Amino acid sequence: MNQPTTPDENVLAFLDHAITATEEAARAAHATDPAPWEAATGKSPTHDHDHDAGNGLLINAANEPLWDCEQSGTLCMTAAASIHAALHDPEAVLRRCTADRKLIALHHSDGFECPACAGEPWVDEDSEGNGEWTRSSINAPCPTLVVLAEGYGWAEDAR
Ligand SMILES: [Zn+2]
Repeated sequence: MNQPTTPDENVLAFLDHAITATEEAARAAHATDPAPWEAATGKSPTHDHDHDAGNGLLINAANEPLWDCEQSGTLCMTAAASIHAALHDPEAVLRRCTADRKLIALHHSDGFECPACAGEPWVDEDSEGNGEWTRSSINAPCPTLVVLAEGYGWAEDAR
């Protein structure tokens, strides 16, 4: 069994797994409900939210609703939730995954030196404990990679 040999490898393995799982979920959703998705919102309330929240419906690229409460005529999603979901449709998620993979590749490319990895590890903390974006030690992963991983749920206890 191969054990990670550098501090970055745990983070990189986590990122690859998380991005791959995210891409697979987005492709599966796109297969059943093709992007782009749009939010169709209205002012009438759902039966289980505040009246001010309005209602929303996600519409796929085939102009089909993703969820219509079994055609009950009572919409269950708020306007805000439907707009949020449409902004994070499968195409948007795949663009984000591609961008993150490019950032990871750039981080390790020839001719580009990650500022957080460059030079000797050190932390210059201000009075509020905010450090510079650099490694705190040679045994710490790159903070740039850690920030990327945090977007996928990486936490201190995930190491
Ligand atoms: Zn770095």
